[in-house]
Amino acid sequence: MQQLVQLIGIARLAAEGTLLSEKRRVEYRTLPTRKWLNRCHSRRVPFDWSINPYRGCEYGCKYCYARFTHEFLERRDPESFEREIYAKEWDALAFQQELKAVKPEHVIGIGTATDPYQPAERKFLLTRQVLEALRNVQGVSIFLTTKSNLVSRDAALLCTLSRRNELRVTVTVTTMNRELARVTEPFAPRPDLRIKAVAELAAAGVSVGVIASPVLPLLTDSEENLESIARAAKDAGADQFGANALFLQPSAQRVFFPFLAENFPQYLKRYQASFAAGAYLRGPYPERLRTLVNDIRQRVGIPLRDMERNALPKPPGAQLLLF
Ligand code: SF4
Repeated sequence: MQQLVQLIGIARLAAEGTLLSEKRRVEYRTLPTRKWLNRCHSRRVPFDWSINPYRGCEYGCKYCYARFTHEFLERRDPESFEREIYAKEWDALAFQQELKAVKPEHVIGIGTATDPYQPAERKFLLTRQVLEALRNVQGVSIFLTTKSNLVSRDAALLCTLSRRNELRVTVTVTTMNRELARVTEPFAPRPDLRIKAVAELAAAGVSVGVIASPVLPLLTDSEENLESIARAAKDAGADQFGANALFLQPSAQRVFFPFLAENFPQYLKRYQASFAAGAYLRGPYPERLRTLVNDIRQRVGIPLRDMERNALPKPPGAQLLLF
């Protein structure tokens, strides 16, 4: 109780949330929510608004950039991000009120900090309710990103939304190698299931692309790996393909470096040296990767992702040459 008195803001709301259920590994809790639409002002984010129906993500990708978001809930253990999942409390009327602030041509990103189709979605249907509510908007751009094959459940609804808005789904596939994916993204659906979902969305008429991000230096950055994803995407009907290098903020490093030490100890020192000066790799490595991905795109015949075409240049920083 003492702890509750000291917590403020969203950390207090999280502490007051009700435990809804628990699986062996994961607890689901409610999160009272004042706002579903978050205004994005950062130049790094290509959205005007973001929507994340859940906080935390059960997929537990070892490189996950979003673990820091649980620190706002006063959850300091980086693993709590994948074990304590908060389902935001849905209020359809309040959401409709919020939508009045969205102007034509605004860009809404769904699933920017957690996966909107993670297993919790089967239980709580929050992403589905968001999409249903978005049927009342028109003339906006809606970008949804996921690693889950559950997205194809909503193919018809996504198709309906795309008649009045620009709508694009991006499915993340970092490798077609099941064993490697099982290690780096231990609780996410298999890569072939994700590609199957791409095919189902494309067949339903949804614009769907594939992104191979984050590309993990020395692990998933080979031409063979990236081309196999691009070819699988193209064969499934994806109309865009992209890939960006890994970035690792300190909260992500706290999980990723021990993961490397355990599974790929031969690479640990090179990673530590490369990310010692900051979260982003700069210098020749990202340039080489961009060239490689462009070449693959041309060979396979699949265009660049819109978002990368409009991407703003990264801020200047130290030149890191190790990879
Ligand atoms: S699916 Fe995305 S949000 Fe979820 S753990 Fe993986 S990287 Fe993080």
